[in-house]
Amino acid sequence: GKAEIECDVLVLGAGPGGYSAAFRAADLGMKTVLVERYDTLGGVCLNVGCIPSKALLHTASVVDEVKHLPDHGISFGAPQIDLGKLRAFKDGVIKKLTGGLAGMAKARKVEVVTGVGAFLDPHHLEVAVAGGKKTIRFAKAIIAAGSEAVKLPFLPEDPRIVDSTGALELKSIPKRMLVIGGGIIGLEMATVYSTLGVRIDVVEMLDGLMQGADRDLVKVWDKMNTHRFDKVMLKTKTVGGKATEAGIEVSFEGEQAPAGPQLYDLVLVSVGRSPNGKKIGADKAGVAVTDRGFIDVDRQMRTNVAHIFAIGDVVGQPMLAHKAVHEGHVAAEVAHGEKSYFDARQIPSVAYTDPEVAWAGKTEEQCKAEGIKFGKAVFPWAASGRAIANGRDEGFTKLLFDTTTHRVIGGGIVGTHAGDLISEICLAIEMGCEPADIGKTIHPHPTLGESIGMAAEVFEGHCTDLP
Ligand code: FAD
Repeated sequence: GKAEIECDVLVLGAGPGGYSAAFRAADLGMKTVLVERYDTLGGVCLNVGCIPSKALLHTASVVDEVKHLPDHGISFGAPQIDLGKLRAFKDGVIKKLTGGLAGMAKARKVEVVTGVGAFLDPHHLEVAVAGGKKTIRFAKAIIAAGSEAVKLPFLPEDPRIVDSTGALELKSIPKRMLVIGGGIIGLEMATVYSTLGVRIDVVEMLDGLMQGADRDLVKVWDKMNTHRFDKVMLKTKTVGGKATEAGIEVSFEGEQAPAGPQLYDLVLVSVGRSPNGKKIGADKAGVAVTDRGFIDVDRQMRTNVAHIFAIGDVVGQPMLAHKAVHEGHVAAEVAHGEKSYFDARQIPSVAYTDPEVAWAGKTEEQCKAEGIKFGKAVFPWAASGRAIANGRDEGFTKLLFDTTTHRVIGGGIVGTHAGDLISEICLAIEMGCEPADIGKTIHPHPTLGESIGMAAEVFEGHCTDLP
């Protein structure tokens, strides 16, 4: 039959990748349809990811900050937690942002179709909408179907075993919690729950938490966070779980496995995310999907089918919102006929823990693995007036330079607000800055941001803020 909806560009999935692509496409004058299975736009990031986690982490950081105030001569009582209100604060944040997106879609005349979409052929998508089906005929399509949390098949179905979405629901405050997987998502949730008073164990298969970041950064985080954990079990696997009345009985194997099973009130499984590429009928459109569910694309975000693009988590690592957004813009522009490319020199990573850990460009580990000749400069925050005034001078700022080209190729920051501070290093890498470009840039005093200029001066051998 005839398609009910015709469009220039169909975007499947309304996460950061999808809505960014749809909005750019509409701004370029294309008739754009955005298909999303959930009632709100924003995908994982706004509804159950970046944003709600940061709302709770903000709250946690204020609570933790206040704990230091007795040292400044100011004391408060123990925190009283109203979980319902905390949840309402977080939900309010989400609503404000997703509501904003709905308004932005409307203003651009992006047609939003709510329902589960699947390709019928290279030019049609069928959407299972409330009470029926809709067929959309498209000239071009952008797949932005995202990813979902990986499950551990040997754990039982039980409301006390959750993924990040379940943990963000904040149904109750457990006494003992197990975090399976010591990556960014797991550690962010561990930060929130531990501040709420929960005793936490973390189990990680590899030999360190927060993989991907240089160990010198993580070491500072480690030291500041020992108080949050009863046990951090490295090189250890979770091998079984039994739901009992008393709790979830979890057993472990490996180097730091405890002698017997351990009992938890809440188990968070944060062992990675898997792409949704296999769930959208991609084969009917002729789009190739890898065994793991990723969709391979070229630098213009084209799949193997020239008029179908893919962006965001579904095309691969790093699974981050800011990467998805930039890819979305490229896909929309190329669909419009422009010569755009995704050509990022760096994609920053941030753990919004306490302290925050942020890194961009090459890590030292990568430089070593790739045989890059590099020089490194570190500015310790113990020499930063602002960090000392904040009572938080445990951090440091690190810059990595290619010693052949003299350009900055990477950097990392551990300390409060590291995630906000890393942007300057991102720009420096993209612009191919040399140490003098950063060191001779006048940074405001006294700020944590100064530490980036000072690290550059350290590299040049004339930092006057260090002994
Ligand atoms: P998604 O956001 O996954 O959106 C895909 C959308 O497609 C979803 O809304 C889904 O419902 C829809 N969809 C899929 N299939 C269909 C279908 N067949 N029909 C209709 N709709 C469909 N990233 C950061 O950069 N910073 C952070 O601080 C951060 N924190 C995170 C915290 C948590 C707890 C989690 C889980 C993730 C976090 N991320 C963070 C990762 C970030 O959320 C993702 O990288 C980002 O959402 C990916 O965007 P996307 O557009 O590719 O896909």
